[in-house]
Amino acid sequence: MLIKLTDVLAYDNKVMQIKTPLEMASFDSKLGSFPIVNKSDVELLITHTSKKNITIEAKAYITISIPCDRCLEPVETKFDIDITKDVDLALIDEDRINELDETNYIMGYELDVDKLIYGEILLNWPMKSLCSDDCKGICNHCGKNLNQGECDCDRTVLDPRMAAIRDIFNNFKQ
Ligand SMILES: [Zn+2]
Ligand SMILES: [Zn+2]
Repeated sequence: MLIKLTDVLAYDNKVMQIKTPLEMASFDSKLGSFPIVNKSDVELLITHTSKKNITIEAKAYITISIPCDRCLEPVETKFDIDITKDVDLALIDEDRINELDETNYIMGYELDVDKLIYGEILLNWPMKSLCSDDCKGICNHCGKNLNQGECDCDRTVLDPRMAAIRDIFNNFKQ
């Protein structure tokens, strides 16, 4: 959704209150495409403080399905967006992009709500996605989800450090 900011610039301290749906159905980044399973409308409060300086307040709740790093089962991850941005519309686009973050959510006098929210999700993307802290992951041999039970594979030699210790131990015995 693109919002025209020209109206709010009509006079100092003018306030615009808008509620708009988030258009994106998935979060697409270089890490992949993650489905958005639940989302609220975006509530915006835009204030023209003075001299083309505006404050954008945005609130939204978004739930994204991210696979567990170990077992790949989907993990519903909640993002609680509550941000305030000060933007100087007197700057030309290029200067403003340098001053803000890489996500360029304002072009000319238009606010791209999806881009604004996208940038916030990206900033808050979890370093780790785990279905539970003690997730056992999947077997490297047969691919079985080990949270659902053990498989018959011998996984004791998978760690090369352990294999090295075993070699030393065997040499010692000979
Ligand atoms: Zn897991
Ligand atoms: Zn296995």
